[in-house]
Amino acid sequence: MGTRSAQELWSAALGELQVQVSKPNYRTWLEKTVGLSYQDDQFVVSAPNVFVAEYLDRNQRSLIEKTLISITASPDISVVFQVDGRYKNSSGAHDAAGKHSPAAPLSSPAFKSNYIFDTFVVGKCNHFAYAAAQGAALNPGQSYNPLFIYGGVGLGKTHLLHAIGQAATAHHINVICVSAEQFTNEFVNAVRDRKTDEFRHKYRSAGMLLMDDIHFISGKEQTEESFFHIFNELHNANRQIVLTSDPPPKSMTSLTERLRSRFEWGLLVDIQPPDFETRLAILQAKVKQSGVEATLEILEFLARRALPNIRELEGSLNRVIAYARLFQTAPTIELATRALENIAAKEPKSTSITPGQILKAVADSFQISLEDLKGRRRDKETALARRVAMYLLRQETNSSVARIGQELGGRDPSAVTNACKNITGDINANPYLRRKILDIQKRINSVPNPKKRRAN
Ligand code: ADP
Ligand code: MG
Repeated sequence: MGTRSAQELWSAALGELQVQVSKPNYRTWLEKTVGLSYQDDQFVVSAPNVFVAEYLDRNQRSLIEKTLISITASPDISVVFQVDGRYKNSSGAHDAAGKHSPAAPLSSPAFKSNYIFDTFVVGKCNHFAYAAAQGAALNPGQSYNPLFIYGGVGLGKTHLLHAIGQAATAHHINVICVSAEQFTNEFVNAVRDRKTDEFRHKYRSAGMLLMDDIHFISGKEQTEESFFHIFNELHNANRQIVLTSDPPPKSMTSLTERLRSRFEWGLLVDIQPPDFETRLAILQAKVKQSGVEATLEILEFLARRALPNIRELEGSLNRVIAYARLFQTAPTIELATRALENIAAKEPKSTSITPGQILKAVADSFQISLEDLKGRRRDKETALARRVAMYLLRQETNSSVARIGQELGGRDPSAVTNACKNITGDINANPYLRRKILDIQKRINSVPNPKKRRAN
């Protein structure tokens, strides 16, 4: 298998790993890896340095192999981590060159180049945060200080933070951008090495301070204390401070009261999960940026899956594209269904949609009665409606095939399995059917159903 396939496979794997490991973990260990080659069941991954290669080898090997197995469907795949060809085996040994490479902590990542305002898609869910972020970047320290952006995981907080940082840097502002976790580690090290003066000096000299995931410091008293003083000094000097957090300040219960009230001094904005239109717009933007081909239909199909966050949405797109390259075809609905099958199965599906709602939506769409849908009529249209109902029950709920058979008037589980297969195949060949199913999914998903936000 050629180099490109290894790259594509690895980007699909990263798409999944991103969802499976914590964000700092992903950032530190996986983000900068590249799929090098895949041959004879051996998958070679290049890591940026020995430190990362060793870590992945010791701690993430089995997760990574499991992920690669699910993507390639070859059960014997094994992964090898490599740094410029130096770190080669899985026993943890590396050659002399490797031994001398610095195992120093990774340098703090610069801004992600694509996290800029131009690539941020604005929708109802985030326009307020976007405008506030632009304000902070263009008129730092002048309108609202601090700017506090909060919202669920994967909704674009870090993207906005880096966008602010890159815009301000372009205006020659000395921006310091760190995650609260990095800040904490730096602080702990400074205390250990008796370098707290240096530490304080660095942060106090910031022209702008951007701190990601501030909720991380909550409950770490000394770090909070140190941050409190830095905050006050910068604030007094009118230096812009921007903080992001998953929860809003008032829910950060272990945070000291004085910090919480500081956070609420300026402007609090939240980012909500994107609606269908915004999800679609984001997918369209990603496709345009990466120059891949995907029809509107595919994008709609992906956007229709109400994923809880944008990172997962991107992951699903990457996966479909990787599959398409792998099988050397254009992305089709059938392929997308297949590519996303495992992911969907892994995630607990929303239980908020009931079988009854689905059956009603199908009956309405086909303009037949519920009794006929569950009954014995065998004309073409009714039979099709019934198969579609089975397919959608399988897609949208946690029901087993046996249960679905019962829902539809006591049918055999194997009939349900066949119907699902049959529809999955037909969706691709039959535009009428595809429209119909998208239309029904739209009806189902527009029933107001507060979905639970998934914890990460
Ligand atoms: P958070 O920090 O809130 O967990 P991120 O900023 O890391 O989320 O965003 C997750 C991914 O989704 C990133 O790749 C980011 O570029 C993308 N993303 C989030 N919001 C948008 C948006 N509005 N437009 C385009 N891409 C977005
Ligand atoms: Mg983030």
